[in-house]
Amino acid sequence: MPRGLDVGSSKPQRGISVNDFSAGFLGSSASEIPPLVRPPFVTGASKDGSTSPAGEQTVTEPIPFRTTVVAEPEPEREPDPDPGDTETTAEIGATGRPFPVLPEPQPLTTHGNARIISMCNQKGGVGKTTTTINLGASLAEYGRKVLLVDFDPQGSLSVGLGLNPHDMEASIYNLLMDRETSLDDVIVPTVVPGMDLLPSNIDLSAAEVQLVHEVAREQTLQRVLAPAISKYDVILIDCQPSLGLLTVNALTASDSVIVPLECEYFALRGVALLKTTIDKVRERLNPKLKIEGVLGTMYDGRTLHSREVMERLVQAWGDTVFHTVIRRTIKFSDSTVAGEPITTYASTSSGADSYRSLAKEVLARCLDA
Ligand code: ADP
Ligand code: MG
Repeated sequence: MPRGLDVGSSKPQRGISVNDFSAGFLGSSASEIPPLVRPPFVTGASKDGSTSPAGEQTVTEPIPFRTTVVAEPEPEREPDPDPGDTETTAEIGATGRPFPVLPEPQPLTTHGNARIISMCNQKGGVGKTTTTINLGASLAEYGRKVLLVDFDPQGSLSVGLGLNPHDMEASIYNLLMDRETSLDDVIVPTVVPGMDLLPSNIDLSAAEVQLVHEVAREQTLQRVLAPAISKYDVILIDCQPSLGLLTVNALTASDSVIVPLECEYFALRGVALLKTTIDKVRERLNPKLKIEGVLGTMYDGRTLHSREVMERLVQAWGDTVFHTVIRRTIKFSDSTVAGEPITTYASTSSGADSYRSLAKEVLARCLDA
């Protein structure tokens, strides 16, 4: 091997050097195909120092040349399959943007000064309630004190946390309409330590009608939630699927809005109207209101349709779209039936991990920022 390596610099008389090889063959019109030149040298090669100038020297010359040529592409080929398989999915998220490294949430020593976030979309079945339960449970896992507000007369959030809608001593309706009722009379603990619930049931639909005649009717929820702000780190309001007075109340009480959007084409329709409503509430009732993020839900990465919808979302909303995307899985329906969050029902499932990831993103965006 050492002989072969220093041939080019020290053996002028016997055969040709590496430089001769380059000049004589690579420099010719066939310069792009050096491997085709090699076989005659190899077959004619011997170690007994024949008179043929090409014979002996070229045995040693092409070997280092070859080994470098062959050795170089190999390491390049090894990583090649990876970008298709793992690296892309690890680095490029489902939104088509590089997925950032989210900071691990640190435990809090004190609680209070809650940020109020509404889950809002006038379309039903897009994952508002599912997101409220599971984002709340994930934030509670990270040590945040969480209050969930069921602000939908259908009471899905309350049912999803195991409450019987017909068997509530008091609901948020009483809190809104009866000045004698206090927060503590209505708040109930949930199966998740650190997470409480303001439940609702069909009674709340009457509140929407009755509130119309109230003074400062849009600020009613803001008023009743005020005492909770000092006790919790985050308050999540699950809105009903409409842009009526209850939703306007939720937006008026909130610091920000998360818009869950099903990754379906129809889900994109109506988002403009939602944005107009949010803008109006900001202008007229709540100047601090901002859109915290748009969350793609029920995403199915196997379908081109889901990926296209995601692409459109990012085109329209840019970095407002959360990097975390919630994939479609039957586990969510199962956990609703069980009356608990997916983070406790199927703690190690990908759905639970997605909501933990969303919690980290929300913490990084606004709560710990
Ligand atoms: P909304 O509150 O916007 O009406 P929900 O959160 O109640 O929507 O979700 C509607 C239905 O879809 C529920 O049955 C729920 O279990 C289911 N669901 C929610 N998120 C997912 C998901 N990522 N994958 C599959 N099913 C889901
Ligand atoms: Mg709902």
